[in-house]
Amino acid sequence: MNPAPTNTLMPETKFRSFRVEAVVLRHSDYGEADRLLTLYTRQLGKTSALAKGRDMLILTQADTVDAYQPLREDLILTSHASYVMELLDRFTYEDETESPSAFRLLTETLSRLASKSDPWLVIRYYEMRLLDHLGFRPQLFECANCRREIKAEDQYFSFSAGGVICPRCGQGLPNLHTISVEALKYLRHFQRSSYADATRARPGLDIQQETETLMQGYFTYLLERELNTPGFLKKIRE
Ligand SMILES: [Zn+2]
Repeated sequence: MNPAPTNTLMPETKFRSFRVEAVVLRHSDYGEADRLLTLYTRQLGKTSALAKGRDMLILTQADTVDAYQPLREDLILTSHASYVMELLDRFTYEDETESPSAFRLLTETLSRLASKSDPWLVIRYYEMRLLDHLGFRPQLFECANCRREIKAEDQYFSFSAGGVICPRCGQGLPNLHTISVEALKYLRHFQRSSYADATRARPGLDIQQETETLMQGYFTYLLERELNTPGFLKKIRE
């Protein structure tokens, strides 16, 4: 990890005077020898940089690549990591205020995946924290329509209302998704728990699938278009 001079990154005006700690969200070819990197950095939030030729593995990013080595060796883990990065990429914009907390959430999540923690749990926890961060925290404790407290029974979930809908309101509302009392229990747990507490969750496979489908539906609704990686993940599992 011998950092290259910072002036190999462009635009130089942004990077000349300091190093950045960054995760590469995506990259694309740019001309013959260059690559355009979309980075999420601790110092600047989301930003892009032009990597000149072979200088692309650069700076402290070299440390990051080593730290996440297992994510590149296992196809399932790679696709989970891609999903994590795609969500952040799709929901953030360059030149927003920098967000050290989002950077920390990203790097902690990638570290958890790399350390072979249960990916289902790592991803669901990440989704819930990311929704908080983005201002889309779902309402899970009272009905998002009538505001009555949600009781321990099967409910509905509304993407447009951003939360749980009680069975009574659910009779008359369109475009609702069912959510079992068990699935809701885990989503609530992740919403208000530390990661250490969340790791005690041991849901069955059916509940895992239910929460995954629901959360991906919610994110897709929020983005108003399909995410690429869930479909990819589904394919390689088959
Ligand atoms: Zn209601």
